[in-house]
Amino acid sequence: MLKLENVSKTYKTGDKALQGISFEVPAGQVVGLIGPSGAGKSSLIRCINRLVEPTAGSILLGDTDLTRLNGRNLRQARRRIGMIFQEYALVERLTVMENVLSGRLGYVSTWRSFLRRYSPEDVSQAFALLEKVGLADHYNKRADALSGGQRQRVGIARALEQNPELLLVDEPTASLDPKTSRQIMRLIRGACQERSLPAIINIHDVMLAQQFSDRIIGLRNGEVVFDGAPDELTNDV
Ligand code: ADP
Ligand code: ADP
Repeated sequence: MLKLENVSKTYKTGDKALQGISFEVPAGQVVGLIGPSGAGKSSLIRCINRLVEPTAGSILLGDTDLTRLNGRNLRQARRRIGMIFQEYALVERLTVMENVLSGRLGYVSTWRSFLRRYSPEDVSQAFALLEKVGLADHYNKRADALSGGQRQRVGIARALEQNPELLLVDEPTASLDPKTSRQIMRLIRGACQERSLPAIINIHDVMLAQQFSDRIIGLRNGEVVFDGAPDELTNDV
């Protein structure tokens, strides 16, 4: 479970990107985070994984207050958070399999260290995930030989290989066509349901958010202006 209490972020420039955000995401719930450009969506995602330092508030992942961690403790806590990115962030010259496995222990540079570090269990889990996302046949292809939709499926498998307690997803479909976008959202939602995994998906496509989220949180000027079921959303959010 994820719990945000009064999270605020004011940048050095004076921009108040987040102003006292509080909400809880229970296990298995997929939250679609929507709002106009500049509303604070990426600041919120980045505060949760501490790529941005929140100015105030607490962010609880289970019993851990993420805002209080530094150094090794922060790195360990980040391993509990799976990230899926708009531009996939794959290592282009590595294979699909290597990219997925990098979710387990982070990026490794050589085959020798690769083989030393990954257990047969890691590899069989990676295969199972690649089967789930429909890429088992492509496990040995280089990431740069894949289409955008295929790359995002590798991104999903990599995040899940981490066995995360939380998924943070930043504009996962922004570079994809509508049909592929729906496939990707369906995969993310299915994984969350299957694993009782909470997720926050920053997504500007409101229709897609409504179709594939359990709950919508709308931000505007760093504040929550809507929090409810997808079908309760009205045009003025
Ligand atoms: P969104 O993701 O909803 O488009 P952002 O979180 O990117 O919103 O931005 C929220 C506000 O914070 C905006 O006013 C933006 O200009 C500002 N902002 C974002 N990142 C920074 C930064 N690194 N430095 C200063 N201001 C920033
Ligand atoms: P996104 O695609 O996530 O909305 P942006 O295009 O808003 O990202 O911002 C790109 C980068 O610039 C980010 O690292 C963001 O933190 C930073 N940034 C955004 N707004 C500002 C701002 N007003 N001042 C300084 N940096 C900003």
